[in-house]
Amino acid sequence: MKRIPASWLNSYSYCEYQIYLEHGRGTTPEPKPETEESKAVQASLEEAYEVAAKLELSVDDAMAKAGEEGVVVSARGVAVEGVDLEGCIDEIVFMPDRILVIDDKPGDMAWPGSRMQTWGYCVAFEEQYRPTLPIMAGIRSQDTGYEVWAQPFAQGHREEVQRAIFRIRQLIDGEAIPVGTRNRRKCKACRLAAACDVRAE
Ligand code: SF4
Repeated sequence: MKRIPASWLNSYSYCEYQIYLEHGRGTTPEPKPETEESKAVQASLEEAYEVAAKLELSVDDAMAKAGEEGVVVSARGVAVEGVDLEGCIDEIVFMPDRILVIDDKPGDMAWPGSRMQTWGYCVAFEEQYRPTLPIMAGIRSQDTGYEVWAQPFAQGHREEVQRAIFRIRQLIDGEAIPVGTRNRRKCKACRLAAACDVRAE
């Protein structure tokens, strides 16, 4: 079965109708004008990732080094493939006693969708690498570089992600009736609002 990008969990959490519109019906969102500031942030992140990629270790080597030598090491831009999910984790920090999976997001809020996406990365990472240490999920502001949220990854999060994956597959396969949010603020900010036939006014 085709893997789902972990970023879809973010859309799903925002409004499942987005998933139906974009991936079931094939609607293309209106491109948002990119600000000079966001271009500069993206460019500096890409530059940092390029440098980091040259310097840093593979995931298996990083996990072994942190465990055996008791040091903290990190890997940036780590592509992961789980059973159902795939994606690219912004940074994984390997500590001697735990592993921190970090997603960079604009602003300083850990929105429910951002948290769900980060849990999705944890699921895919765990399925691919089978770490023996506990995993923590974290969200970091890409504007300030500060962590804005972190929480231990637990069984309840795995189950939440699995339920979301199941529902997303139903929505894109036409096996479920999609339900739009009733939250007008969400619809106002929605990138698919122009194409949505159930948006809340
Ligand atoms: S406009 Fe509202 S109901 Fe439609 S997809 Fe966007 S958030 Fe969902």
